[in-house]
Amino acid sequence: MVLTKEILKEKPLILAIDTSCDDTSVALLRGREVLNSELSSQIELHSEFGGVVPDLARRLHEENIEEVYNKALNNNPGMINNVDYIAVTTGPGLAIDLEVGLKFAKDLADRYNKPFVPVNHMEGHLFSSLLLNSKGNGLVSDEELVDAFPAIALLMSGKHTEIVYVESIGEYKKLGQTLDDAAGEAFDKVGRVLNLGYPGGPVVTEFAKRGKSGVIKFTTPMKNSGDLNFSYSGLKTAALYKSKELREKGIPEREWIYDFCRGFLDAVVDSVVIKLQLAIEKHPEVKTVFVGGGVFNSEEILRKVGNTVRSYNLNYYFPEIEYRSDNAAMIGVSAYLNILQGKYITDKDEIEEIDRDPRLSL
Ligand code: ZN
Repeated sequence: MVLTKEILKEKPLILAIDTSCDDTSVALLRGREVLNSELSSQIELHSEFGGVVPDLARRLHEENIEEVYNKALNNNPGMINNVDYIAVTTGPGLAIDLEVGLKFAKDLADRYNKPFVPVNHMEGHLFSSLLLNSKGNGLVSDEELVDAFPAIALLMSGKHTEIVYVESIGEYKKLGQTLDDAAGEAFDKVGRVLNLGYPGGPVVTEFAKRGKSGVIKFTTPMKNSGDLNFSYSGLKTAALYKSKELREKGIPEREWIYDFCRGFLDAVVDSVVIKLQLAIEKHPEVKTVFVGGGVFNSEEILRKVGNTVRSYNLNYYFPEIEYRSDNAAMIGVSAYLNILQGKYITDKDEIEEIDRDPRLSL
């Protein structure tokens, strides 16, 4: 759709829900402005198992969702009457976990006669940089948003690594994606190889800060593939063998672990930068690069990708730190853009028929 400043003056009150993985989150937004963003994290419980256990996540979503919802309404239940739309992630994600949020959202829409907005979680990550604080301040103004397209989006999380061509809001074409592991997953897996606990990715990026580039080298994956796809499983295997080799030599871990993490991070960043450059060069008409997803919790990755984008004189739009990992506020902003396009459902039977779609794609 073609956005205009006029259209963006409409600012409905939106309640948004996400239970696609291991966080139960509910947010309240006025247009792009986040009034409240609440989240119940399950990470500590899952870390005991070394990863997200879908059954356990489902049980915890069911236990926590009511409380998170109440908090999002400032513990003022009557507030729901003022809400204009109910939005929820329908996919991608873990099927039995998506179901909890979907059912909760459907019940609200039915009980309070609210229009319903099904949201693609990846569209949420794509537009997470558009969120504004409750004073209406943020990185991207209405003027800039209207003028942002066509654009490229680089989305990197624990489950997804993809480059998407964004013709305009609602018109997407996937240019490339990972053929095996996602970048976030690769970081967590190498964290496991190094016994850094779960999730190990953030520790790997922290340790990399203390390491020296070039001491331990890994080959940049898919460097010369010529396409825009990614692959991290070979890099993960190389890291596994390298760590075995170093251990077998009897070198104490503290002497190499920082350089090891540095080398791993350099290879991932290198692969991302190469693909992004290629995408931009193949599409010289783009004006903006949007990024989103938990991998950008690493300020270094955010900065290096940003330097690449700016070297082409393009706008670089990235989310605030609290909206990089999964959250319901980003589902709300995606819902908002859908509402402006008239993409919402009012018919009760139609709402009831909406199903979760674990493999939903942009
Ligand atoms: Zn996500």
